[in-house]
Amino acid sequence: MKYDFLIVGAGFAGTVAAERLASQHNKKVLVVEKRRHIGGNAYDEYDEHGILVHRYGPHIFHTNSKKVFDYLSKFTGWRFYEHRVLAKLNGELYPIPINRTTVNKLYGKNFRTDEEVARFYESVREKRYPVKNSEDVIVNQVGKDLYEKFFRFYTKKQWDLDPSQLSASVCGRIPVRTNDDDRYFTDKYQFMPKDGYTKMFERMLNHKNIDIRLNTNYKEVMDDIEFDKIIYTGPIDYFFDYKFGKLPYRSLRFEWENHNKEFYQPAASVNYVDSEKFTRITEYKYLSAQKSKTTTIAIEYPQKEGDPYYPVPNDKNRLLYEKYKTEADKLSDVYFVGRLAEYKYYNMDQVVANTLVLVEKLFKNH
Ligand code: FAD
Ligand code: UDP
Repeated sequence: MKYDFLIVGAGFAGTVAAERLASQHNKKVLVVEKRRHIGGNAYDEYDEHGILVHRYGPHIFHTNSKKVFDYLSKFTGWRFYEHRVLAKLNGELYPIPINRTTVNKLYGKNFRTDEEVARFYESVREKRYPVKNSEDVIVNQVGKDLYEKFFRFYTKKQWDLDPSQLSASVCGRIPVRTNDDDRYFTDKYQFMPKDGYTKMFERMLNHKNIDIRLNTNYKEVMDDIEFDKIIYTGPIDYFFDYKFGKLPYRSLRFEWENHNKEFYQPAASVNYVDSEKFTRITEYKYLSAQKSKTTTIAIEYPQKEGDPYYPVPNDKNRLLYEKYKTEADKLSDVYFVGRLAEYKYYNMDQVVANTLVLVEKLFKNH
C-alpha cells in the first residue's frame, strides 16, 4: 500500500489535515500517533464515575472564525458554553480576567461605570514602552499590585520563569476589563462539542482513505512505509534529532479526584494565584453540563518533564526555533503544522485555521 501522505500526530493539526486530504482531494493517508488514542491534547473520555474529562487539561472551544466554526460543525453538534474562572487569593475568590468586580472586592471600592474603573487603572498603571515581556504587558495596564497578586506567582509556577522572562503574548492572553463581564473568553463562538472532542475526531477520521496506527512513533515505522509527503505535527526539534539543542516545552501532571458531592467549587476553574504548588483546579461537570451525584476534579501541577504541552514563548526560544524552521523550509515534501511543530502557543481554532490553509495551499495550482 502506498500512501500519498504520512501524517504524524492525530491531534487537531493531523486530524484536520487527514480529513481534508482524504475527503476533498481523494488522497490516501496514514496517520501515525504515538499515544493510545486520537485527539492529541484535546482528547476526552468518560472516567469511571461517568464524568466526561479532558485527560490533558480543560479545553474550551472559542473562536471568532466562522470558517473554523463551520468546518468543525460538519463533524459535531455543539452545546453553548461560556467558561468562567475565579482566582483564589488570600482565601477569597475573585473573577479573572480582572474586571470591575475584582477591583471593587479587592480594594473595597464601589465603582459602577467603565469610566471609573478605567480611571482607576490609569492611576495605578506604570507606563511601559515598549511592552517587551509578560510583566510589562500587565503592569502597563493595571500596575504592580494587581500584577503581583494575580500574575506573578501563577506565571512562575506555570512556566518556572518570571513573567519578565516570557514574551508579552503569554500574559497578554488575559484581557483586563473595565466592565463586569466575568467570562474567560469573549469570542463570537463559544461552545463545547456536544458529544465531546474524541467523538468529533472519530467522525473526522472515519473515511475510507484514512488509515490510523496508534501506539506508534513514526520514526520507528517510517522506513517500512511507502509515502510521498509528510505532514508533521510533533515537536519540531525531535524531527531534527535535536541537532541544534532541545526546545523547552512545558508539561503538566494531573491529580484526579472524585468527590461525593454535587459540586466541588463555584466555577469551572479556580486559579491558585498566591499559594499552593498547583496552578488550577478544574471541575469537569461545568464543562459537560452533566448531572451526577459525584463530581470529578483535576489538579494541575506544571512540570518540565513529560509530554510536551506548551511551547515556552520568549526571544531565546524563538531564535532556537527559527534555526529549526530554516531547516524545515528546506524540505520540499515535509510540512510542519500545529502547536508543537510551529512552536507557537496556539489555541485549537488557530491550529484548525492554519491546517485548513496549509491543505488549501498544497492544491492551489492543481
Ligand atoms: P497536539 O494536540 O499536541 O497533537 C500532536 C500529536 O502528535 C499528539 O497526539 C502526539 O502524541 C503526536 N506525536 C508527537 N510526536 C509523535 C511521534 N514521534 N510519533 C507519532 N505521534 C507523535 N486550546 C483552546 O482552544 N482552548 C482551550 O481551552 C485550551 N486549553 C488547553 C489546556 C491545556 C492544558 C493545553 C496543554 C492546551 C490547551 N489548548 C486549548 C491548546 C490545544 O490543546 C492545542 O491548540 C491543540 O490541541 C493543538 O493541536 P496539535 O495537533 O497542534 O497538537
Ligand atoms: N495567568 C496568570 N494568572 C491567571 C491566569 C493566567 O498569571 O490567573 C497567566 C499565566 O502565565 C498563564 C497565562 O496567563 O500561563 C495564560 O493563561 P491561560 O489561562 O490562557 O493558560 P492556559 O489555559 O493556556 O494554560
